This record gives sequence, structure tokens and C-alpha cells, in this order.
Amino acid sequence: MHWSRRTPCSSLAEKPAAGANTLAARLARLGLRTDADFILHLPLRYEDETRITALRDARPGIAAQFEVEVVDSEIAYRPRRQLLARVRDSSGALLLRFLNFYPSQQKVLHPGARLRIFGETHEGYLGAEIIHPRFRAVAADEPLPERLTPVYPTTAGLGQATLRRLIGRALERADLGDTLPPALRRRLRLPEFAAAIQRLHTPPPEMSQAVLESREHPAWRRVQFDELLAQQLSLRRAYSARRARGAPPLVPTTTLTAALLESLPFRLTAAQASAWQEIAADLKQPHPMQRLLQGDVGSGKTVVAALAMLQAVEAGYQAALMAPTEILAEQHYRKLAAWLEPLGLEVAWLTGSLKKRDKDAAIARVGAGETPIVIGTHALIEDKVGFARLGLAIVDEQHRFGVRQRLALKEKGLFAHQLAMSATPIPRTLAMSYYADLDVSVLDELPPGRSPVTTKLVSEARREQVVARVHEACRGGRQAYWVCPLIEENEVSVEANESEANVKRSGRNQNAVLQLKTAEETYARLLAELPDLRVGLVHGRLKTAEKAAVMAAFVRNEIQVLVATTVIEVGVDVPNASLMVIEHAERFGLAQLHQLRGRVGRGVDASTCILLYAQPLGELARARLKVIFESTDGFAIAREDLRLRGPGEFIGARQSGLPLLRYADLEDAALVEQARAAAEDMLRDQPQLAAAHLQRWLGGREELLKA
Ligand code: ADP
Ligand code: MG
Repeated sequence: MHWSRRTPCSSLAEKPAAGANTLAARLARLGLRTDADFILHLPLRYEDETRITALRDARPGIAAQFEVEVVDSEIAYRPRRQLLARVRDSSGALLLRFLNFYPSQQKVLHPGARLRIFGETHEGYLGAEIIHPRFRAVAADEPLPERLTPVYPTTAGLGQATLRRLIGRALERADLGDTLPPALRRRLRLPEFAAAIQRLHTPPPEMSQAVLESREHPAWRRVQFDELLAQQLSLRRAYSARRARGAPPLVPTTTLTAALLESLPFRLTAAQASAWQEIAADLKQPHPMQRLLQGDVGSGKTVVAALAMLQAVEAGYQAALMAPTEILAEQHYRKLAAWLEPLGLEVAWLTGSLKKRDKDAAIARVGAGETPIVIGTHALIEDKVGFARLGLAIVDEQHRFGVRQRLALKEKGLFAHQLAMSATPIPRTLAMSYYADLDVSVLDELPPGRSPVTTKLVSEARREQVVARVHEACRGGRQAYWVCPLIEENEVSVEANESEANVKRSGRNQNAVLQLKTAEETYARLLAELPDLRVGLVHGRLKTAEKAAVMAAFVRNEIQVLVATTVIEVGVDVPNASLMVIEHAERFGLAQLHQLRGRVGRGVDASTCILLYAQPLGELARARLKVIFESTDGFAIAREDLRLRGPGEFIGARQSGLPLLRYADLEDAALVEQARAAAEDMLRDQPQLAAAHLQRWLGGREELLKA
């Protein structure tokens, strides 16, 4: 019999006949399918059941194992129904208290029964007690386990006993052979795989739990190295697979690209020109480009994208651009239509909010190859959308899409070139490991004629002065944004996030709603405070056409003060707007504040961004506001964001639900570098070992990592 703190119900999963499917489903939730998955499912911590502690030596708050005899047990009804068992050993007595219990458990606790119990004691009203100890009946001479007991990460309904048994079985059965060449292993002073793994699953009792759990033990180091190596191998393999795959070479005739450059009212910056050169060279290749174009807000990514699209069209192919929100997609659409339609090109528009008839018509024209250029939201990746000759797929703000959506676009244009764009500067190592095989072009300069944005931190208490400042700017012919936190509930529904993430977020947003002023309230208030100005309101719950109408009015300066939620965060471009007020700035993320601030400073006038904050400020909020106040460099801000929040959160990896790096840390630069070098050597000298290593670590998951 196993430890029986788990209810009889939850141990059903252990009987294959009763719930094989359920067990498999629970294991799948933990990513456990193959033997290799099980052996790499490592303990969070350990419990020491190799020793028996005398009751006399029990220390409150310290978990220990005791061997006792039951004196008696009874069900008490005050203050609520509960099972109490008095037990003792030769040194003292103890009370076991169960607030939930099953008759079968009660049966085990009959007077005279010999038990091993495990738990933390504390001083109760009736002396020392343990609430809900793990316990089991044992024979008088039952031997003690020789190893520390591992405690694994698990999921609801999957008991430790089951996991231990399955992992134990996998350890016996699986090939624990080393996948590192011995010379490499010796050079890096890493233990053998089998020894490291056995040690972590079943440590001998003399090992310090603290050292094991701190993950600084050499066994952990070996696991971390292996994980990073698998990642590096996978990157390299993805890279060669891509090189081996065919794509249409988009050979430029420069008829269209030259015409666009000719018609623009500006010259490309040096950064734009060199990014464009890198992209143009990639597009000519007979294998698919996979490039990230990274540039701070306002650095001018759109025109580079337009040039790339034109090169595809020149070569007789179609190009598609997908953006994460309707507003953003529409901005792209309007800008690209304005640039490209004069060149005689049709630009199609495809989003979920189109009338069915218009949408079907657009899909038909795209499918027939009649439209060379298509802009849209994730409506572009619906099943019924088919491209006649897709040569280039561009994804804007790609980190805002889920992994599966990125995969879907990739499948649509399996042989197409891919360009991702991002204004959230992602540190390169992070970009590489989350987006796998990727080349990166960076726009590290802003177009000329921009004036820097001055950032001011102002307390809510001085709101009146801020309103006066808005009034003054607008009377002087300028325009202003007034940004509020989320309005009502789920504003992110227009975004293409995984549905589960949406549910979680909407829960959080509802909270936010209760605490924060809505944009509507602020709008009403500003209308009253600024009676001689034209004030407008835009937020995510407006219909697309309504949003577009408001934005268009702002562009034409028919609206002077635009009250907005974060829908304006990316892409919006109104050079005459030189003042931005962000209300409750302490509630926004760093990257978001930076993006918002990037909406001003686009014209020739000196611009200001006022961050209004409510007192009292929490420590993290204070740290964030300090960063945004002191820096205007997107990369520096991203680094700080990373530091304050951790990489998973930063990049939205948690939304993807993928176990990426479980044990290693990308910040561990030395180990990452060793893994990178080792991957190169192994692929060249020992491809079989490399393949075995990848199989062990990634199994069938590699496809997802490539998205
Ligand atoms: P982002 O990189 O944030 O997407 P955009 O592509 O929207 O930036 O460009 C921001 C603004 O700068 C747009 O109005 C665009 O037309 C303008 N722009 C782009 N490149 C240049 C340039 N080389 N010189 C002047 N203005 C430019
Ligand atoms: Mg943009």
C-alpha cells in the first residue's frame, strides 16, 4: 500500500482499468509521454523518510517521519466534524487531526495499529499534533527506504506515489546512456548523465537537501547544460532544414521598389537602407528567409516591409502582412494603400469584422491570385483563406501572436519567405531561443527631424495643472493624447491570443475595471474641463468603423484631444500630436509605456509625455516609472523590463503553454556559450550523438519550438 494521504478517489488513476485515459491526460498536461520525458521530470524538493525521529525530538515546523502505535481514534463534532487519532511511541505522544477523511482511512487507524507518519508537528490545544499527516500502516520490521523521497511537480489528480512509480519504472527501462562525447564532458567537468539523473531522482540520504534543492549541485549543472545544448542543436538543425527547403527566389526587377523610393517624401535612413539590403538579398535565395526586423517605435519599419512586399510582387508573387489588432492592421492598410495604389497595385484588406460578402470576395480574389498584396489580422490564417502564390509573409508585432497562430501562417506559406517585425526590443539571446532559427536586422536609428520626448512624472494630485497644459498645447495648434487604463472588461479580445490566456486576462481585467477610472469617465470629465476644445474617445470596444472614424478625425485635427485606451499603443502615427498624458501610469507595463510614449515625438515640435501616477506607489511600480523616466532607449528599457519581470512574462511565453527552458537560465551566459560551441562541434563530429541528445530532450516537441 502507498502513502494514503491522497483520497481513495485520486488513487483511481493508479488502476489502469479504471482510468487509463484520465491518467494519460494528466500526464500529458505535464508533458509526460515517453520514458525520456519521465526521466527528465525532475524533483522540486525532497523529503527524508530514511530515518525515524522519536516523538520527543519532534521540532515544530520541521517535517519528519515518526513510527507510532495508535492508542485510539474518534470522530469529534466540535468545532466541526473531524477525525482525531491519538498515537504514541516509546518517547511521547501525538495527536493526528483530519478535517477531511474517508472511512477507509479511519479503519486503518484502529487501536494497536503500527504506522509511519510524515509531517510537520505544531503545538495544538491538546499538545503536539499534525494536521493531515501522510500515514500508512507498516509491519513491525518494515525496512526504511535507502534514498531521499523526491517530490515532483504535478497537476491536480496526479499523486506523488503514481509519479514516483512511473518515473522509477522509466529509470529502470530507459537508456541512460551518455549523449555527450566523453572528452567534452571531462573538459566541462560535468558528471555522467546516468549518475546525474539517478542522483537527482533518488539521492542518497547523506546528501544535503539544501544543496540539492539549490540547483547548484553538479548534477543540476549537467541537466542545465544538456537542456541548453538541446536548444542550440535544435536551432542549428532548424537552420539547416530551412536552408534545405525550397522557396521561390524573389529576384528583383527593381521596377516597383525604385518607384516607391522615388515617390516617398523622405530618404531611407542608413539603418533602413541596410536592413532593406539584408532582406533583399535573403529574398533572392532559393530557400525561405526567416528574419526579424527589430526597431524601436517610430524607426520606420513599415516602409522596409513595403519594399520587401514589392520585391515579391515584382517577381510575380503575392505578399501578406498580418497584424495583431484591427486598428494596427488598418493603419498598415491605409499607409500601404496610399503608397502602393499609385503604383497601380491592388491592396486587399481582410479582417474578422468584414461583412461576410466582402470577406468572401476578398478571399476569392486572394485565392485566384488577383490581389498581389493582402493586409489583415489573424483572419488571414483562417482555413478558408488560400493564397494563389504566396511569396512573402510578414508578421507585425509577432510576439503578440500565439505560437500556434505563427505556425498556422507558416503552414499557409510553407515555402514562402518570412519577415517578422517587432518594436518590443527583445534581447538577442532571448529572441533566438524563443523564436528558434532567426536572422535579425535592427533599425537602430530614428528618421531625422524627430525631437526627443521629455518625460515628466506628475502625481494625480496635480491633475489640474496637467489639464491646463493640454489646453495650452491645443490652443497653440498642437494635439494631445490622454491615455487611460483598460475600459470595462475584455478589451484584448480583438487580439489574437490563445483562448486560455484570454480567459485569464479577462479575469484580471475585470479586477482592473473595478479599481480604475474608465476611459469613458475621463472623457466625460475632460469634455467638461475643456469646453472650447474638440475632445474624442477611442477604445477597443468600438466597432472597427467607429474606431477608424475617430482616428481619421484625429489625423485631420478635427479632434484635438484624443482620450484613448491602449488601442493606440502601436503603430498610430499623428506627427502633430506633441503631448501625451498617461493616467495611472503605474498600472502599465514598461514595454507598453515605451510604446505609448513613442506615439509622440513624431513631428518637428518638442514633445512631452506626462506620466500621472496615483499615490501610494508600490516598490515595483516606482522602479518601473523610474526606468521609463530615465531612459528613452527601447533596448535599455527592455533589459530592465526583463530584469524586473523575468523572461517568461516578458515575452508572453507563458501564454504559449510550452515548457521551454525548465532548468537552465538564459542569463547564464557562460553556460549558454559553452552549449553553443558544443552544438557546433557535435553536429560536425558526432551527428548521431547530437540526434540522440535532441531525441531525449525534445522528442516530438521540436516543431513547436520552431514556430
Ligand atoms: P514603426 O517602426 O514604429 O512602425 P513607422 O514605419 O510607422 O514606424 O514610421 C514612423 C513614421 O516615420 C512614419 O510616419 C513614416 O512614414 C516615417 N518615416 C519612415 N522612414 C522615414 C525616413 N527615413 N525619414 C523620415 N520619415 C520616415
Ligand atoms: Mg509599426
